Amino acid sequence: MARKLCDPELLGPWKGQGLTLATLCSHSSLQIFHGARQEGYRSLGIAQGRPPRFYDAFPLARPDGFLTLPRFGDLPDHVERLRSERCVLVPTGSFVEYVGPERFAKLPIPVFGNRRVMAWESDREKERVWLESAGVRMPRRYEGPSEVDGPVIVKYYGAKGGRGFILAKNRQELEGYTITEPHVIQQYVIGTRYYLHFFYSPLSEDGYRVGEGSLELLGMDRRDEANIDELYKLGSQEELTRSGIRPTFVVTGNVPVVLRESLLPDVFDIGERIVERSLELFGGMVGPFCVEGIMTEELKFYVFEISTRIVAGTNLFIQGSPYSDLVRPGLSTGRRIALELRRAEREDRLDEVLS
Ligand code: ATP
Repeated sequence: MARKLCDPELLGPWKGQGLTLATLCSHSSLQIFHGARQEGYRSLGIAQGRPPRFYDAFPLARPDGFLTLPRFGDLPDHVERLRSERCVLVPTGSFVEYVGPERFAKLPIPVFGNRRVMAWESDREKERVWLESAGVRMPRRYEGPSEVDGPVIVKYYGAKGGRGFILAKNRQELEGYTITEPHVIQQYVIGTRYYLHFFYSPLSEDGYRVGEGSLELLGMDRRDEANIDELYKLGSQEELTRSGIRPTFVVTGNVPVVLRESLLPDVFDIGERIVERSLELFGGMVGPFCVEGIMTEELKFYVFEISTRIVAGTNLFIQGSPYSDLVRPGLSTGRRIALELRRAEREDRLDEVLS
């Protein structure tokens, strides 16, 4: 049976009307506006202060209009304009960061995907319950330093973009740090990072079937993380710490990657488990999501995080990726979102992809 995610009252005025795809002028907006345009949708850029000038340099990705706010966080005070243009909000990491998960979840404007997922993703404890109960392998979590028996990464709650994490090679080194803020101590997994870009369509009836829809793999990237990626060039950790240089995982860009083809069955198995469990827990995750993990030399994949919306790593593939090209040539995640909306409109199933 089809799962309805959206309150009919909220969606009523949007049905049968020309929709506008709206997102914040940040993160993956170029790709979202470009994809909207490719599928004949109008687009609206929500800008903070003046609209960024860089859109003038990219005419095919310039939104058709702008809503200018003093600050992104003021969005809840400007829903009338979004209503009048029958906007559908396409969520990105910027909404969570600048509007906040609770206020975003309450906006009286249809959102692409299931907004209930936010409560599960933005809370590290709930995220672990979801992923572990799906049978996905995650890095071990230590209750305290006395349990530590190998290298660890200490993550503060609410740390922004991996700034201020602590790495320690063993218990002794960890005990040398005074950690006062709320945090988790996690096994530091040694291997190679992969960020897997999936798309779950509840509407699709062919392809790799999961639930009543199907799962697509649209791309993969690895994040460039300043300054950790290049730190090895400077020497060992202790020496660096003595010199006052602390590693950070602040993302500065992305590089494209592909996985050994023999590992693709594992990748789809992970995506499938996560989607199936989301259907049981909160009505399902719809649209783009990213599974972030580390492949070890034993070829075991440890998932340390999930992002339940378009991730900036997909910006690499505005003209398609080695994977999405095999779904449809030139397919970006932005265009995939617009295509899903078009199909939902055609089949009168908007309430299955909007919430
Ligand atoms: P963001 O919000 O940018 O995703 P975050 O604060 O949620 O960051 P994580 O994504 O959990 O933090 O981790 C940031 C980076 O730290 C990862 O991209 C990865 O390089 C590294 N990392 C995280 N967990 C582990 C782990 N268990 N083992 C090894 N490296 C890890």
